[in-house]
Amino acid sequence: MPLPKRALIKAAIVEILQQHGQLPVSEVHEIIAERFELSEADKAIKLTSQPQYKVEIRWARQELVGEGIIARPAISGRGHWRLSGTINAPDVYPDEALPEGHFFEGVSKKVSVNRYERNQKARLACLAHYGYECLACGFSFERAFGPLGKNHIHVHHTVPISTIGTKYQLNPIKDLIPLCPNCHHMAHRLEPPLSLQDLKAMLKSAAEALVLA
Ligand SMILES: [Zn+2]
Ligand SMILES: [Zn+2]
Repeated sequence: MPLPKRALIKAAIVEILQQHGQLPVSEVHEIIAERFELSEADKAIKLTSQPQYKVEIRWARQELVGEGIIARPAISGRGHWRLSGTINAPDVYPDEALPEGHFFEGVSKKVSVNRYERNQKARLACLAHYGYECLACGFSFERAFGPLGKNHIHVHHTVPISTIGTKYQLNPIKDLIPLCPNCHHMAHRLEPPLSLQDLKAMLKSAAEALVLA
């Protein structure tokens, strides 16, 4: 496979460092080469005297250092690579707007840990299905902010709390949708929250009103 675009290499570096903590440059080279399925022939392509993929990875790192995402190296080009800070985990609960007490009322700590894991699983199942763009307006954190925004989005629970009974089983694809924080906030301005169709209709009519104005 040919080398991917710089933005993809940057996103991969951030993900790898999130996963592994700090890494020596040689391991970053290896993991990236494997991830993008670079053949021996691909790896042998040179840019001046250096392998091209290593040069690309170095430039990607320099950009990430400039953006404050990767820690500035003590000695240029050497040492371990690490993120400059901790990137917070994505929003933990499928819906930040659901009051914690509603789910956790009267349950033991063990149950709430299981609930946490279930919620995380449901969240990931929803995102594996829909992706990380806002379903209402199409906003993508990665497009807007680059690598730091990769895999970041709110997840909204579309079933009104008042209708949830004790036997309720969450369906991650029917009941959860990815929404950007703006659309999510607007959805919860009303009670019960706006549906996805309502949100889309609102965005559309507001945009049309702007064109006419
Ligand atoms: Zn949105
Ligand atoms: Zn919500």
